[in-house]
Formats: sequence, C-alpha cells, structure tokens
Amino acid sequence: MDLSQLDSQEREELARRVMDWFAGHARDLPWRHDRTPYRVWVSEMMLQQTQAATVARYYQRFLARFPTIEALAAAPLEEVLKLWEGLGYYRRARHLHQAARQLIAANDGRLPAEYDALKSLPGVGTYTAGAIGSIAFGQRVAAVDGNVRRVLCRVLSIDDDVTRSATRRRLEGIATTLLPDQDAGTFNEALIELGATVCTSRNPTCQLCPVADLCGARAANEQEALPVRRPRGKRPHYDVAAAVTIGADGAILVAKRRLDDMLGGLWEFPGGKCEDGESLPVCLMREMEEELGVTVGVGSPLTVVEHAYTHFSITLHAFCCRLIGGQPCCLDCADFRWVFPSDLDELPMSAADRRIAQVLVRKGEHRGTDP
Ligand code: SF4
Repeated sequence: MDLSQLDSQEREELARRVMDWFAGHARDLPWRHDRTPYRVWVSEMMLQQTQAATVARYYQRFLARFPTIEALAAAPLEEVLKLWEGLGYYRRARHLHQAARQLIAANDGRLPAEYDALKSLPGVGTYTAGAIGSIAFGQRVAAVDGNVRRVLCRVLSIDDDVTRSATRRRLEGIATTLLPDQDAGTFNEALIELGATVCTSRNPTCQLCPVADLCGARAANEQEALPVRRPRGKRPHYDVAAAVTIGADGAILVAKRRLDDMLGGLWEFPGGKCEDGESLPVCLMREMEEELGVTVGVGSPLTVVEHAYTHFSITLHAFCCRLIGGQPCCLDCADFRWVFPSDLDELPMSAADRRIAQVLVRKGEHRGTDP
C-alpha cells in the first residue's frame, strides 16, 4: 500500500486513532511532566540512540543539577560529562553544553522555536529539531526516528532500504503528510510510543495496535520482514593496551582525551590500539611516549575488559606500569593528572576505563595497599 491509496479521511482516521491510543497508553516518563523547551531539549538529546528506560535513570539527576540553560552553560564540561557517565555517546553531552553556551551568548539563553534555527544547534539533527519544534513549540513538523520509520514501513508496506537517505526523506515526507493540523507534537510522540511499545522490532503485539486493520504488513503477515535494512558489515575488533602507571606515593597517572577525539573530554588510563605485529607491552611503551612523553616499564597484567561500541569492538588489556624515564607532558591528550585510586570515581570515564578503575580500587581495598 502507498500513502496515495489512503484518502484524506483515512489519513485523519489513522492520526486520530494513534493519538487516542496514546492518550490511554502513554508511559509515565519523567520528561512528560512539567514541560519546558529546555526540558524537552535535554530529554531528546538523551533519547538519541538510547532507550527511554535508560534515559529515565539519568534525566532527573541531570535536571536536578542543571535546572536551566544558564546552570548548564555555567558548569564545567567535566561536570556535565560526569553526570552523563554510563549513558554513552558522549558527544551529545558536549553538544548540549556547547549549545547552552551559544544560546546564553547569542539568544538570551532561550531555545529558538523555529525548526531551522533548532537544527543549527550543535547535536540537533532533523529528528531532534522536529521533536523539539513540535513538542515544545507546537510547530507542525514531523519527528521521524527509528520507531516511526518501523511503524510507517509496516503500515504502508514500504520495502525500501531504510538505511538509505532517499528512503528516510520519503518517510519524513509521509510523516509530514500525516500530521494533524493541531497538536503535531502529540501525534509525533504517539507514533514514537507505538513503535517503542507495540510495533516493536521483534514480536510486535499487533492485537493491541490501534491501526491493525489498516496495516499492510499485518495483512500480508510480513511484520518481521519490515523495515528492510541493508545488512551491516562485520564489526572490526581491536586489541587496545592501557597503562595503569603507579607513582611512588600510590597515585595513578590518568590522561584526558582530546575534545575532538571519540570519547573526548573523558579521562582514561593512557594507551592505545596495537599495531599489526606489535606486542601489548611494546604498544604501551610506544603509546606512552607518543601521548605523554614518558618511558614506562610494563609489569603484570591487571585486567582485561571486553567492550563494544557502535562501529567496532575492543579487548582492553590493562597493565600495571611504572615510570622509568621523563616527566609527563601533553603531547597527544588534553590534560593529565596523578590521582589516588579512591578519587578516580570523581572523574568522568568511559565504561571500559571505569571497569579498570573498579578493579584497581577492589584490588587496593583487598590488599590494603597499592594493587
Ligand atoms: S498491526 Fe502490527 S505491524 Fe502493523 S503497525 Fe500495528 S503493531 Fe505494527
């Protein structure tokens, strides 16, 4: 079925049914209370690539610490990253902070209401601008995320590859055509909610769906086949070595990643990716020279952490090291610091480095001395 096969009454009927269903079935999520543009913006940034249940754990804590754009802009980036720790995709936190500072400097600390102005903010793409514009400002614009794409492909039996930008643009056009004249924000939220809770990727509960009798995929029993996605290539895997360099007083040398790097602004146990044919200790010695200008002696293995990112996975090998030459300086990092294991918790770290820090603290506690 194509949208052109639905007449205007049927389109209105579809929108009305989804909104009626939403009125009775919307989950009670923290960002659905006490709405302000700022709160909608924070929630939509957090919800990018992340499920609502996970965001709920972070959202209220973040809003309690940064209740306004002014409070967010005034905070050091490191504090913002610390509150974001564990939520992943840290670029979102950097963008939120950067945009808050821009808005204070150039827009009286207010979010713009217009779609194009929203889209010009760091980290705000087509979906997020549509969501903020419609939900916070009542603009009649679509907000098409993966949930909406799934629902539309199934209802309208669209079998184009949804990873292609042409398909995405087509679906945005369809979603715009379906928008009601009033309350586009509620319609967008309703469609997203339907995809998140009923029209799920696996085992959609069609018997609970308000548009089941209009749905092409259900009629053809091909719900699981839609939407169509080009198969992903194999995710590359890397071995990475990390140095836990212990000073004479028991403090540990940590480095802050450069802002323009992946995980920028987070603290880490310095090190890096093994090159072809390189052993882990040789890799660590090279990385410490390149990153901090020091020579280290590589001692016993501390722990091994497996971690998967969106586009690759790593095995992170942490070794106890000691400084045998040079004084640390930032050759390829944003900052460095000597920190006692008990203070590592105050620094924002990625999930993989946090696991190393936890092992370090546990071993230190167990022995009552350095690890
Ligand atoms: S009927 Fe099933 S496949 Fe179709 S939109 Fe509803 S939940 Fe999704």
